[in-house]
Amino acid sequence: MKNYMLASEHTRPIVLTGEQSSMEDDCACPDGATILRFDHTLAMENDCACPSQTGFARLESAPGILYEQTPRTHTDSLPGGFHLAFSPYTPAGPSALNAPAWERWQSFRVPRPLENPVDETLAQENLIVPVGGQFKLRTSPPETLIAWLHLTNACNLSCLYCYVHKSPEYMPEHTGLEAVERLIETTQERGFPRLKLKYAGGEPMLHFSLVKKLGQKARALARQTGIELEQVLLSNGTRISASDVEWFLANQCKLMISLDGLGKAHDRMRPRKNGSGTFERVARTIDEILLPKGMTPFVSITITKMNANSAADAVRWALTRDLPVSLNFYRQPDHRHNQNGLALEDEIIIQGMLAAYQVFEEYLPTRPFLNGLLDRAQMNAHLHTCGVGQNYIAITHEGKLAQCQMQLHAPVAQSLQGDLLSLVSGGNIHNISVEEKNSCRDCLYRFRCTGGCPLESLRFGQSPNCKIYQALFPAALHLEGLRLLKYNGYLQ
Ligand code: SF4
Ligand code: SF4
Repeated sequence: MKNYMLASEHTRPIVLTGEQSSMEDDCACPDGATILRFDHTLAMENDCACPSQTGFARLESAPGILYEQTPRTHTDSLPGGFHLAFSPYTPAGPSALNAPAWERWQSFRVPRPLENPVDETLAQENLIVPVGGQFKLRTSPPETLIAWLHLTNACNLSCLYCYVHKSPEYMPEHTGLEAVERLIETTQERGFPRLKLKYAGGEPMLHFSLVKKLGQKARALARQTGIELEQVLLSNGTRISASDVEWFLANQCKLMISLDGLGKAHDRMRPRKNGSGTFERVARTIDEILLPKGMTPFVSITITKMNANSAADAVRWALTRDLPVSLNFYRQPDHRHNQNGLALEDEIIIQGMLAAYQVFEEYLPTRPFLNGLLDRAQMNAHLHTCGVGQNYIAITHEGKLAQCQMQLHAPVAQSLQGDLLSLVSGGNIHNISVEEKNSCRDCLYRFRCTGGCPLESLRFGQSPNCKIYQALFPAALHLEGLRLLKYNGYLQ
């Protein structure tokens, strides 16, 4: 356990003491009460189609006069007399309450009216709720259409967990250009303000000339139609040159690189076809090509039974370079196929993840990192784990339409004709709301985890990772509490 140096003076103003309240402060506000809130997020890049950051949910409550502590609120001690508080209905992440604010929250064990701005802030965070109120989450429609462009089946690596059926095939240029046109049309027709393209494979850098052509077409059409364009390329990090980086920077295309351990641990998971390791090459790409040119890649770590105990080393390597990191769980290609014995084993994964969290605690970035800590969990309250069937489309190298990148072998349509979103919503994966999942209905974390990957739920009946999520959420929330203290100048 780390010993904390508490800051004697705050290095930045304390923001959140209910200052957005419209209530008059009639001097009933407890002296010096301070509530630090999770108030912004950093979208993390990973393979999947995360729910849109704008899919924020708000709690509807019946107007009530008396408020009480929200049942099942999770609390935890933090340094400096602060406490962490997180309720199932918290709009985003947890809050950190100093001693007077904590005392005030405790007073709501007995129902009482809102009397001061701190009460109002507690109510905004849904840490107190109207007695007898009815609660329902309301999500706004997603604002981004997300598309996986599967540019090639080819790859220069043979990763142990890869679900792509490898072949030299790649997307012909005319197929790619048609895909971009259809995606722009769909974005317009469905009224999304934004389109996000994920250049993927296989290894998309093997066909970088195609990436550039598609990017050029997408930018031109986005300009014409007024659509905001986001681009990210998912790479193994072994085929990126200095001149390629100029294109990424000039075209505002983000980069996600996979790193599954340090040295031999990474090499074992992600070898070349001839068996040689790739860690040295990936490290060189980041240290000698990307960072010197001012390009910050997202680092994605895929956790399997085999590399869970290396996750901490990979996190340390990334955090020493101030890189954003996401920890994602391995998914079996289908329920019968446990590749190389990689399937998650709860205790091994939990111990490996907790060791990785200790490294986060040691470095404690002030940049938000909570959304990258626990697979698909996202802290803004939401109802669906990913955009499958709603705002996510995967396009195969042959120009076929699939529900998700793990279903490329089972397309829902053989071409890109028709209403693409209607076609994907009719596929086998039913991306139901967490409120419809019996096993999740009473879970404290249901609006963050939302029941895990819908494809795994289809295969296994419910998330096979529930025990892991439940074991790790408290530790992940605790880390966010520490980050809030540091960000606001309470920790050195
Ligand atoms: S899968 Fe488990 S942790 Fe996730 S919402 Fe359902 S019950 Fe909660
Ligand atoms: S169904 Fe699962 S694998 Fe597919 S995009 Fe959603 S979370 Fe990812």
